[in-house]
Amino acid sequence: MQRPATVLAVVNQKGGVGKTTTAVNLAASFAVSERATLLIDLDPQGNASSAYGVLNPQPQIYDALIGDCVMKDAVRPTQLEYLHLVASGPDLVGAEIELVSAEARERCLERALADVRDQYEIIVIDCPPSLGILTLNALTAASAVLIPLQCEYYALEGLARLTDTMELVRSRLNPDLALSGIVLTMADLRSNLARQVEAEVCRHFGEQVFATRIPRNVRLSEAPSHGKPILLYDVHSKGAIAYLALAEEVMARIGRQASGRRPPALAVAADGAGNESRPHDEPAEQEDAG
Ligand code: ATP
Ligand code: MG
Repeated sequence: MQRPATVLAVVNQKGGVGKTTTAVNLAASFAVSERATLLIDLDPQGNASSAYGVLNPQPQIYDALIGDCVMKDAVRPTQLEYLHLVASGPDLVGAEIELVSAEARERCLERALADVRDQYEIIVIDCPPSLGILTLNALTAASAVLIPLQCEYYALEGLARLTDTMELVRSRLNPDLALSGIVLTMADLRSNLARQVEAEVCRHFGEQVFATRIPRNVRLSEAPSHGKPILLYDVHSKGAIAYLALAEEVMARIGRQASGRRPPALAVAADGAGNESRPHDEPAEQEDAG
């Protein structure tokens, strides 16, 4: 029997802190080190899906959550051999409402993941910017939480609510939920403010802060519009190098060596019906300064 996947939820109810960028590029970094990886887009905005060029997916995470299909039928391939994706779209807004009346509504994702959990080494979940029912499902299904924090003045605001929510989930739903760590994103360590914020976060969270900082890097913000993770868009960029380093740190904390397991064969074809792919342009020429 294979060891079931580590399920890593990327969570922060604050918007725009780098959750999706982190989920998309961490998942790609795990995959290039030949770890069978599944990325789940749990945000109705569908940003993690469009970052892989998947728009209007059918079937998608919504269908698996409400039980209209099994999870493995919603899994699709990506440009990376070791990375699969369960995509999302606006339909998922409906799930927020429909799940409210579902039985054991916080466990829908955990239940749906049961049929794929043995087939991957790591499952990464990109959460929406709220602590609503979708994020509760992610926290209930997860083994560990990774919190991206943007290096800005209000970085710590709201974090107490997030850690309280994790505590509640631990006591009622998922006693094994761990904090994998906090990653500082969009860091510009030339700025005094960013350095002060970093010092403050480290004072609060000590060793839980990953040594790897994700720098502000324009290539990271460009890559999604080309439907690619940073590793396929500009492998030499500072953003790509940082996410590769973060992936190794996460794996070391989780205590998982690459096992050589390959991802499973899929039911959904690369260009399955109902999926629109975004045209992929050539990378832009400009490098990020500094
Ligand atoms: P939401 O809460 O809306 O889901 P999010 O927390 O998922 O947002 P992202 O979408 O990852 O945040 O990032 C917000 C914006 O910042 C995006 O435009 C993204 O391209 C950009 N961004 C994220 N990380 C970086 C970085 N390290 N350098 C430059 N731009 C970045
Ligand atoms: Mg996002």
